[in-house]
Amino acid sequence: MIEFNNNHMNKNTPEITLYNTLGKAKQKFVPINEGKVGMYHCGPTVYDYPHIGNLRSYVFADTIRRVFEYNGYKVNQVINITDIGHLSSDGDEGEDKMTKAILREGKTMTLESMREIANRYYQSFRSASDDLNILPATTYPFASDHIKEDVEMISTLIEKDIAYKTSRGIYFDTSKKADYGKLGQVEGDESRIGEDSEKRNYRDFAVWKFDDKLGYDTPFGKGFPGWHIECSAMSAKYLGDSFDIHTGGIDHIPVHHNNEIAQSECAHDGKPLANYWMHNAFLIFDGGKMAKSTGTFVTIDTLKEKGISPLAYRYWLLTARYSTSLNFSYEALEDAGRAYTKLIDSISSILKSIADASTEKHSKESSEHFKNYQRNFVNFVNDDLDTPKAIALMWSLLKDAEVEGDEKIKLIEDFDKVLGLNIIKYAGEKAVAKELLEADLPNEIKELIETREKARQDKDWAKSDLLRIKINEAGYKIEDGGKNESLKISKLG
Ligand code: AMP
Ligand code: ZN
Repeated sequence: MIEFNNNHMNKNTPEITLYNTLGKAKQKFVPINEGKVGMYHCGPTVYDYPHIGNLRSYVFADTIRRVFEYNGYKVNQVINITDIGHLSSDGDEGEDKMTKAILREGKTMTLESMREIANRYYQSFRSASDDLNILPATTYPFASDHIKEDVEMISTLIEKDIAYKTSRGIYFDTSKKADYGKLGQVEGDESRIGEDSEKRNYRDFAVWKFDDKLGYDTPFGKGFPGWHIECSAMSAKYLGDSFDIHTGGIDHIPVHHNNEIAQSECAHDGKPLANYWMHNAFLIFDGGKMAKSTGTFVTIDTLKEKGISPLAYRYWLLTARYSTSLNFSYEALEDAGRAYTKLIDSISSILKSIADASTEKHSKESSEHFKNYQRNFVNFVNDDLDTPKAIALMWSLLKDAEVEGDEKIKLIEDFDKVLGLNIIKYAGEKAVAKELLEADLPNEIKELIETREKARQDKDWAKSDLLRIKINEAGYKIEDGGKNESLKISKLG
């Protein structure tokens, strides 16, 4: 295995700059605690399968995490699970999304049914994340496990006379926070206050919603926490009152994130909630937002059914800046799939030629080319995650006749720590599969091996297993081997 020293944290370390929605500028990253980063990513509302637009948010979060780890930071990453309290609008209107799921699935209206549905869609979120090679976060706290923390924070706000009671719930008084809305994009105006006559200000929002039928018993009444307070309470518990980076999709800026900031900073005596606020642009579907609520959404399973590998989707996302909107189309994803396959093919050819040359390579000093490529790469990804330039650099490297094959492989393996495309793994498997195809095997077996390789790359495990059985039935046994072992085929009996 190639040993790599990723500790770039010395005085020659290129700085990391991030676009901060809070300062509306690209800013140099300065951690709260040296060598460490605490990050909170607003997680999925688990009332349905995640669509590939939602997953863009977590590929983005994963890329930030990988960049920091590449630079030698220790990352504490929290992705919450919203399993209660999220209404269909980001404010206080509309149906409760989880209640809607209970009705849709014909379950009894209980907290237990809510959790059952949440667990199921949480699993689908985790499995889609695995398919996209998103590294597991440090913690995935469920909102329903943190009622105590919500109640504590709400009580603090009531004691400070910042939250008040109406017949519908406990509301946050936005006039008590002089810089309310500092992330920007605050919508509406105070002239609309009449819409809820009990509210003191139009923008006041619920931190607790009363519900006398279903909910949690608390000193101020039965009901559910507001969606915003859940994030404030959970981020404080796992990352402290102030932490480094907070992310979400751009739709969270106007309401959810401005409200999180207001509550947390008031509850924590003015301490900033997060120093850097980062937002991913949307995946646009048919000219509009890809949304679960309209039912027009594409999941990772839909992509697999169309023969598009989840990693081809990841590749496609990385070819654009996270802050650029992307228009979804199957044609665009198929193109990305072809580019990703070409990438794997070229690297597998390099691996195969290195294996064929079979000369024992002794460790040698890295070439100047090698160092240049590595320097350029880190500069790109540290520049507000410029993954499009990093991907272009990878293609230039592959075409560069000045760089030897083994250095190319080392560099690609290094780059992939940030890109997360599993390049060396799939290229290695392909190289072995190619070898098998050249071996003395019946054509029928070769075809099965080839189809199975494609299924594996598409992460279609069911198809891959079926093909393994077919290979077995034809009298051969195929073994995939472990992390560094190769694919093997042997005749049965
Ligand atoms: P939700 O499950 O609706 O709470 O959303 C989870 C994450 O997905 C949030 O960060 C949203 O901002 C984000 N999101 C929702 N729709 C899209 C989309 N079409 N493109 C990109 N991100 C999205
Ligand atoms: Zn949140």
